[in-house]
Amino acid sequence: MIPILLYHQIADLPRHRDPRNLAVSPELFERQMAYLHRNGYRCMQLSQVVRSIIEGLPQVKKAFVLTFDDGYKDVYSTVWPILSDFGFTATIFFVTGCAGRESAWEGQSGSLAAPLLSWSDARDMSRAGLTFGSHTITHPYLTRLEHAQAARELRESRLMLRDQLDVEVDLFSYPYSAYTPAVQQMVADSGYIAACGGDRGRWGRFNLWRAQCTGKDSWLSFAFKASGQYYRFLQLKRRVPTRQSPRHAARTN
Ligand SMILES: [Zn+2]
Repeated sequence: MIPILLYHQIADLPRHRDPRNLAVSPELFERQMAYLHRNGYRCMQLSQVVRSIIEGLPQVKKAFVLTFDDGYKDVYSTVWPILSDFGFTATIFFVTGCAGRESAWEGQSGSLAAPLLSWSDARDMSRAGLTFGSHTITHPYLTRLEHAQAARELRESRLMLRDQLDVEVDLFSYPYSAYTPAVQQMVADSGYIAACGGDRGRWGRFNLWRAQCTGKDSWLSFAFKASGQYYRFLQLKRRVPTRQSPRHAARTN
């Protein structure tokens, strides 16, 4: 499996504004990208990887995927120039109802709130070749919503991205990595071809595992995540199959 790396904010944040240490400093992020570049890792589009999973093609060796959840403003101001320097690409999972505002959802409000991309920022990046996927409209726990409300979060966020960016949108990531089989089915029914989670639960096209990179990562832990060894470790730990399950393989819409 090709490692899918997950980042949130790329910013120097004081501890009280980032108690879970999710933010990675711009300096560390740049050094991590330089490490991948120097060591000949190939940065792939998430959609390419998904297509190879769907078609059962052999996976490219020494490759990785970059994803950024929520769509913080620093993806535009800090990350994009660094990616351009190395010729890397990324997928940004955007909270579409919060464009141009601050993150204010559970776990990210008050003093932890941070500015998010505007639609104009998103359009600039999309036109330059970066990919946008949906991370819902309001960043709820989909598992706690009524069916109709969850379906609206999935469908309308996709339509908003499509209308604002004028591109097809077929990738999704679960807020808080929270999903159930019913939510996964709704994601498929809403027209997405794949969804990213964290590193929990059964791996599949609608729960692609991701390795979260944080401010706590050492060189060793980052190299472990980027090399794919982390996935092998998870597989051994979980002893779960990593081939597409037939139930999800049947869904192609
Ligand atoms: Zn999120």
